[in-house]
Amino acid sequence: MNNNLFGVVIDAGHGGSDPGAVSGNTKEKDLTLQISEYMYERFKEMGVPVYITRTTDETISPTERVNRILNAFGNRKDVVVISNHINSNVSGTSEGAEVIYALRNEKKLAQNILNALGEAGQKTRTVYQRRLPSDNTKDYYFIHRNTGITEPVIVEYGFINNSNDLNKIKNNYKRYVDAVVDAVIATKMGGFIPPANTNTYMVQKGDSLWSIAQKYNTTVDTLKKLNNLTSNDLYVGQILLIPEKTTNTPDNKPSTDNIYIVKVGDSLWSIAQKFNTTVNELKRLNNLTSDILMVGQKIILKEPEIEAPEEVGMYIVKKGDTLWNIANRFNTNVNEIIRLNNLTSDNLSIGQILMIPNYIGTVPGIIYTVKNGDTIFMGNNEYQIKFYI
Ligand SMILES: [Zn+2]
Repeated sequence: MNNNLFGVVIDAGHGGSDPGAVSGNTKEKDLTLQISEYMYERFKEMGVPVYITRTTDETISPTERVNRILNAFGNRKDVVVISNHINSNVSGTSEGAEVIYALRNEKKLAQNILNALGEAGQKTRTVYQRRLPSDNTKDYYFIHRNTGITEPVIVEYGFINNSNDLNKIKNNYKRYVDAVVDAVIATKMGGFIPPANTNTYMVQKGDSLWSIAQKYNTTVDTLKKLNNLTSNDLYVGQILLIPEKTTNTPDNKPSTDNIYIVKVGDSLWSIAQKFNTTVNELKRLNNLTSDILMVGQKIILKEPEIEAPEEVGMYIVKKGDTLWNIANRFNTNVNEIIRLNNLTSDNLSIGQILMIPNYIGTVPGIIYTVKNGDTIFMGNNEYQIKFYI
């Protein structure tokens, strides 16, 4: 698996003499600490190396904060920095979450985090980059600008002076953190968290929104809305959400075109010509020892196609899970899970990956496309795995 997550640094924004945003007696620095400490525990449970910049109400200068971040795992591209913040604005009418990413990074992680927060019930605004007015080649925020080649995101969970946001953050912050943790793990495993009832499509050379919309029987507007696209530009390798899973899955059933029924006047040679194959290939496929055919005989024309992409369910064991509750959730039974995973006992460990029988499209999950050379899931064929969250 292309695991490119070396470690996560959690940055609890503000602290000590810097309260951050304030509304009544609620201070941003306290909320970010609460969020960050829970996030730290969650990553630890998932087996991801994790570091937190502060665990007390401590004043940290920007320089010191950056030092802690870069010293946690070193200045590496595969280190994700999550800087937790609560927004504020003058009017108090703005509402919802935002994620800000660095100029050197792709949008994907930020977008997946925002989408996951949306799935968890928070109102979402946008993901963006912000440039320094005095030098627009540089990031506006020091947490982006001075953190080497790491991948930092600022997560603004909502507005402290918006009562909806503040209530939601106070009541639901664990759910929001769970969503962020899942989004980070999914993204850095090469996957994606699609909302329920969507499929994903990776943009190929020559694709346009219009051609993709045609292909999947939808509209450019729907695609743009679903993917939060502000322009029609696509890039090769971009992952798009496609509405309605069931209508567009490729038909992988063995085609009846693969069988030819011999008619009067046919010979192996004429059939081979007609279907662009060879006499020897037809004899091999059909175990023929002579060239003689009978009218009405069924001839296999080509090697049956392997059923790909094949969807396999995977589930990452979380705290509190048992085989019984997992079986229940996925509408299967304990014995089936034991058999499929060659388990020798009922004990599960957090972070353990279980194969789940039957593909259940409506449970939110992380689509990971196994590529040639990824041998851990058997075989070399390209197919998709869904990680349930
Ligand atoms: Zn802040």
